[in-house]
Amino acid sequence: MNLSQIDSAALLENLHTGVVVHSNDTKISYANPKALELLRLTSSQALGKDALDPNWRFVDKHSQVMGVDTFPVNRVIKTKAPITNLEVGILDSSSEKVTWVICNAFPEFDELHQITQIVVSFLDITRQKKVIPFEDIVELANDVIVVTEAAPYQDKGPKIVYVNQAFTALTGYTKEEVLGKTPRILQGPKTSNETTYKIRTALAQQLPVKAQILNYSKSGKEYWLDMNIVPMKNEFNDVFYFAAVERDVTEQIEREKVLKELSVRDPLTSLLNRRGFFEAAKASLSYAKRNIKSVSLAMIDIDLFKAINDNYGHQTGDEVLKEFATIMCECFRDSDIIGRLGGEEFCVLLTDSNLLSAKEKLDIFRDTIEKSTINIEDEHPIKFTISVGLTESDKNSAYNLDAMLKQADKYLYQAKDSGRNKVCL
Ligand code: GH3
Ligand code: MG
Ligand code: MG
Repeated sequence: MNLSQIDSAALLENLHTGVVVHSNDTKISYANPKALELLRLTSSQALGKDALDPNWRFVDKHSQVMGVDTFPVNRVIKTKAPITNLEVGILDSSSEKVTWVICNAFPEFDELHQITQIVVSFLDITRQKKVIPFEDIVELANDVIVVTEAAPYQDKGPKIVYVNQAFTALTGYTKEEVLGKTPRILQGPKTSNETTYKIRTALAQQLPVKAQILNYSKSGKEYWLDMNIVPMKNEFNDVFYFAAVERDVTEQIEREKVLKELSVRDPLTSLLNRRGFFEAAKASLSYAKRNIKSVSLAMIDIDLFKAINDNYGHQTGDEVLKEFATIMCECFRDSDIIGRLGGEEFCVLLTDSNLLSAKEKLDIFRDTIEKSTINIEDEHPIKFTISVGLTESDKNSAYNLDAMLKQADKYLYQAKDSGRNKVCL
């Protein structure tokens, strides 16, 4: 079969695509039934109507009313070039409803290269066209939105194909600077490997993932993101993009850090309070248990502290406690855990220390305190001593903090009972 055997008239009459033929003065010389339906015209209304008719109203894909000179037919006449796949809306003047079409238009020429007619076709896409401007919404959203290709998750990482304005505002990178790069350029030395591993593992399995991650701006400023990454799938269920919706939660995280810090610190001495000490000590003990390391616990109580309060006043007593805490921090290692359990009672968990080495350190500390003089403005120099109860994590205490505290407390009372200024174990 060849082309001449096709009944083109019947084809056009039954085609699901609207076809309109304009003569070179833009007047309509033919419109098939689908075109009449889309243009909401009867055959007699259509024939002879030209493209300058003010009743024609087209809108562009952003719903902006088009000027007459930008109508497809007029553009083809002006440029002598075809138009392909142009998205336009045909506005119904009575209802203001828009029929969305994909428009193609091509000119036919005579031997002198003059346009003889223009054939325009319309395919109705109203049902597929999303009239909610999702692209604009995403572009203008307060949250950061980053879209990447679906692979690779390992090696270099997937390429960024889209970022919105909130992204550029937060990171300081322009769109041009990040398109084609991987989101990993936003990660840095303090970004948790555990978090990036969690994200990569989920993405490799094409699963959605939520995480809080530390990122770095172009100028190196750290910020925290709460992010939600979702795989975008096509109709065949293949993932073709990952879309990340990210919220800057830096302020919230900083506030939480401050609150957490306040809840575990003693405001007078800035040492860990009872709750902070218990938390840190328990974590340290479980680490020591796993690694079979010795840990010692010292309970320290200032001798006859009540007398300091009585002689110099409560405020001076407070200053003494502060000074004592400072000396304590100087005498022990950063890896040791120091806390104020209450009043004038303190605790040190000596990590990686058996009873013998802990005894040595506590003897030195007791001696340091005995020899120290605390000078407080407008007061006589103040001297005092401490008593210490010391215990080691052994089979009996089984790295149990409560058991160790109980034992240390028992030895502390022995130290007090046997004359104070002593380390008992
Ligand atoms: P001991 O040698 O037996 O421990 O005698 P002590 O006087 O140190 O013991 P006691 O338990 O009788 O008194 C502790 C005192 O510590 C009583 C209390 O008023 C005081 N104290 C507790 N907390 C604070 C505080 O935060 N600031 C001040 N200035 N004093 C405190
Ligand atoms: Mg005391
Ligand atoms: Mg006491």
